[in-house]
Amino acid sequence: MEATHRTLVLSQGYEPVKIVSWQRAITLLFLGKVEVIEEYDRNIKSISMLIKIPSVVRLLNAIRRHKQPVKFSRVNIYGRDRYACQFCGAKKPIAELTYDHVVPRSQGGKTTWTNIVTACEACNRKKANRTPDQAGMRLLAVPVQPKAMPALVITISRESVPDAWRDYVYWTGELDHD
Ligand SMILES: [Zn+2]
Repeated sequence: MEATHRTLVLSQGYEPVKIVSWQRAITLLFLGKVEVIEEYDRNIKSISMLIKIPSVVRLLNAIRRHKQPVKFSRVNIYGRDRYACQFCGAKKPIAELTYDHVVPRSQGGKTTWTNIVTACEACNRKKANRTPDQAGMRLLAVPVQPKAMPALVITISRESVPDAWRDYVYWTGELDHD
């Protein structure tokens, strides 16, 4: 993902929520929905003023999270599982993840929140059409239906992350170390 001149949106409580184009961020700013926390070193000119492109903004109002149930989707499964294989714990980019039926469909397993987990390709292949018990594998957590999604997990590479975001995003895997 090209992050240059995109804007990180934080919740009122400074949790990362989403990434938007800087144009969208400016719109939110003019609508009075956000305040600017960090800016890029680049100006944009409008007819009446000169403003800096915001790199991090914070929502001024609380997000209502409880209204909608979390949609059952592949990416939301990955989000629930924090982009980690639920068998070996490896964190991977989305392209290298798949999902696994805990109880295989061939044994009556359903495609539901409580029977689908994130898996890496190797573990998915190894488990094949077996239950974890049958395959001698262990789930790291019992899959549940999430009430709300965890805060945004940034999976873009370190090089493409604007410096200004670094204090606000939750790093995954190897990015935690230095
Ligand atoms: Zn794995």
